[in-house]
Amino acid sequence: MPNKISLAALPTPLFRHDRLDALCGTRVWVKRDDISASGAAGNKVRKLEYLAADALERRATTLITCGGQQSNHARATAIVAAELGLKTVLLLRTADPASPPPPVGNLMLDYLVGAEVRFITPAEYRERDRLMAAVAGELEARGERPYVIPEGGSNGLGSLGYVDAMAEVRAQLDAGLADGPAPFDAVVHACGSGGTSAGTALGARRYGVAPVTHAVAVCDDRAYFEAVVGRIIEETVALSPELDRSARPVIHDAWKGPAYGLPSAEQAAFIVEVARKTGLLVDPVYTGKALFALSRLEPKPKRVLFLHTGGLPGLLAQSETFAGFFGS
Ligand SMILES: *Cc1c(COP(=O)(O)O)cnc(C)c1O
Repeated sequence: MPNKISLAALPTPLFRHDRLDALCGTRVWVKRDDISASGAAGNKVRKLEYLAADALERRATTLITCGGQQSNHARATAIVAAELGLKTVLLLRTADPASPPPPVGNLMLDYLVGAEVRFITPAEYRERDRLMAAVAGELEARGERPYVIPEGGSNGLGSLGYVDAMAEVRAQLDAGLADGPAPFDAVVHACGSGGTSAGTALGARRYGVAPVTHAVAVCDDRAYFEAVVGRIIEETVALSPELDRSARPVIHDAWKGPAYGLPSAEQAAFIVEVARKTGLLVDPVYTGKALFALSRLEPKPKRVLFLHTGGLPGLLAQSETFAGFFGS
């Protein structure tokens, strides 16, 4: 098994709320990975426990990664790098690099911890792996030791963080924190680059956390994620051969909303209702769409583990999306 370093505040708690159950139409335990750390909070920090350990073992001096302009993964990577004394180069997708986006939300934190941000177009982003390799070559020529982390930290190594998260949930079930040791009926979570989905499916099988895991796509489609998650599962099993390579998530692509990062009017209203009735904050890019999906899922699993994978900084950058609800 690969090594990891401790970056997250674990175990993350399980949150219950009667009014959340009512909004979702079932009994929900929220796994609070949104408070897995301070600035680096969210699902990416579990992946980074393995990825950063590998980078340190290879004596890296700079982490290179990529994402959208409000990438939670890029922000978590930059903050972890600062903690470890490493530099960061982020390739961030934006509509027009000539007019850079405002430094708010995740981007504000990227700048705060001193990441070098390079904006790229959506067309260039499709070539992200090649572009990150080119940046690595450039840094090597300057005497740096670069370490490239793929989009979302989603490779076999990163996904081990979610295998471990399921072991953590198994211990919480055994400790009686979710009405006894019986498995949940399902796990539900948002899916953006596939690593959380791969690790959760493998870990839920390995530790008897639930017989099915539902991955709610926020971009691309089911065929795309079946291929991507299948590949990550193969990589993960190669690193940890006791895992069952036949484990697979159920991937849903009906709740992506109008575009990546944008909720439908119904999804936005749902996010506001959850906040106002329960105090739980879910974001319009990932967790709000996934929780909305749970509220619509049929047939409805009876005891559900919902992975709250984070996203608060991105929510803070989207005041226009919710402006219609303010003052009301
Ligand atoms: C990245 C992210 C996800 C999706 O996880 P993947 O492993 O990339 O599929 C879900 N929620 C939040 C808040 C994220 O930042």
